[in-house]
Amino acid sequence: MLSNNSDFKKLLLVHSRDRRSHLMGQELNNIPRLIIKMESKIKLEKDTIAAATQDLRSLEAQNSSIEKEINSITDQISRNKNKQLEVKKNEEYQALEKEITNLLEQQSSKEDMQIEVLVKIDGAKETAEIAKSKITEKVESLEIEKLGLIKRQEELQIETEQLATELEDARSDTEEILLKGYDRTKKVVSRPPYIAPLEEQKCTGCNLRVSNDIVSSVLVDQKLTHCDQCGRIVYCER
Ligand SMILES: [Zn+2]
Repeated sequence: MLSNNSDFKKLLLVHSRDRRSHLMGQELNNIPRLIIKMESKIKLEKDTIAAATQDLRSLEAQNSSIEKEINSITDQISRNKNKQLEVKKNEEYQALEKEITNLLEQQSSKEDMQIEVLVKIDGAKETAEIAKSKITEKVESLEIEKLGLIKRQEELQIETEQLATELEDARSDTEEILLKGYDRTKKVVSRPPYIAPLEEQKCTGCNLRVSNDIVSSVLVDQKLTHCDQCGRIVYCER
């Protein structure tokens, strides 16, 4: 039986290194995408902080413009009061008095507006602070995750090179005819495994039942046998 054959065992070693290298390659290919995803998550979190801070800034700007309006009304009121001291005619005095009343009303309504804005500022400050502390923590942990990915990428690059050498060693140790059959199989089968043991007459690569001819070929012939369903090389483990 071929699986007892030491040459076939060497081919199995080639296959296992090939599979590891395939998995590593997949992981390595995935990492740049994961890093980009992580970066966009980080940006989103930072944008949220910026938006919360922006709300606070615009409320503060609103407050200071109301403040200016109130100050200018107060100035006008005191100017009118000074004029009242100087006018001689009663109608002029009354006209100024009316204007002052009007200005006082404006002042009081501006002051109400300002109180509303100040209350909003307190709320926005609290929201911005909570957002900042929560999000900063989140951003830190995302940054750590990103660094982990970069480290894994570097490790994988080194391991991939080592494995390539090990794979080459295993291949140079394996019989040419077996390698040729194996490489052909790799072209036919789209993804690993390329060699699969039979279990209860089923190919463990495709999970389908193989014919009796295949089973007897595996048990008797000393050559590579392929699953008649998926084309993988099949063998018996015992
Ligand atoms: Zn199969």
